[in-house]
Amino acid sequence: MITKTNPMNATTTSPQIINPTSYPRTHPMTVALRRVAYYWPDAHAKILSMPWEWSDKHPYGATDGDRLFFNRTGLNRLAARDAGPGLIAFLLVHEALHVLLRHRQRFAHLRWKRTLNEAADYVVNAMIVRRNRELKREIFPPIDGIYLDESFSGHKSVEQIYRELILAKLAERQKASQSKPVRLLLRSRRRNRHVRSGHACPASRNLSGVSSGGIASSGGHGAGALGAFGACQPP
Ligand SMILES: [Zn+2]
Repeated sequence: MITKTNPMNATTTSPQIINPTSYPRTHPMTVALRRVAYYWPDAHAKILSMPWEWSDKHPYGATDGDRLFFNRTGLNRLAARDAGPGLIAFLLVHEALHVLLRHRQRFAHLRWKRTLNEAADYVVNAMIVRRNRELKREIFPPIDGIYLDESFSGHKSVEQIYRELILAKLAERQKASQSKPVRLLLRSRRRNRHVRSGHACPASRNLSGVSSGGIASSGGHGAGALGAFGACQPP
C-alpha cells in the first residue's frame, strides 16, 4: 500500500528524488498533473518519464534535458496561491516543452547560456499562452516575472531571439560605456593601445551594424556574425 504523504513537507536534504505520484489527491501538484494530462498529454507523458529532483538553484524549476529540478520553496509558494494548480501546471508544461523541443541538445553550440535560456523561455512561454487562447480559458496561467512578450517573440525561432537579445545587450553595453566619464574612457584607451593594431574585438563591427540597421534587422546576421561577437564579453 502506498501512503500518500506530502513530499513538499519532507525535511531531508537535497538533492533528493521526488515521486510526483505520491502527493495527496487534492494537493495542487496532483491537480496540476491531472490538468496537464488532460490538456497537454504529450507534456504529461514526458514529465512522468523523467526523474524529478529537489534543487534550490532555480526559483521554481529547471531541466537539463534528462531530469527535472524543482525548488521546494518555489513550489510551495505557487501551491499557496488561489491559482496554485494552474501555476504549477504552467511550470510543468514549461519544463516539458524545453525537453520535447530538445533545447539543450539543439542549442549546445550557442555560447551564452543565460541568454539562450532567456530566448528559449520566450518561445515556450508564448506557446503556452497560445494554447490558453486555443482553449479559450487560462488553463495554464503564466507565473509572474517570466520572459513573455509575444510582440517581441512573435513566431521567431530560439536562435533568432537569442541573436536579437545579444545584439540588444551589446548595444546597451556600448551606450553605457559611451556615457562613462571622459577620464575613465581615456584610461581604458591607454590600457588597450597595445592591442589596437592586432586583434580588434569583433563586437565593435557588429555593434556598428546595430546602430545603422537596428536590432530588428539582426535576423539578417548569419551564424558567422554570432560566432564573431562571441569573442568579446559575455552578454
Ligand atoms: Zn525555462
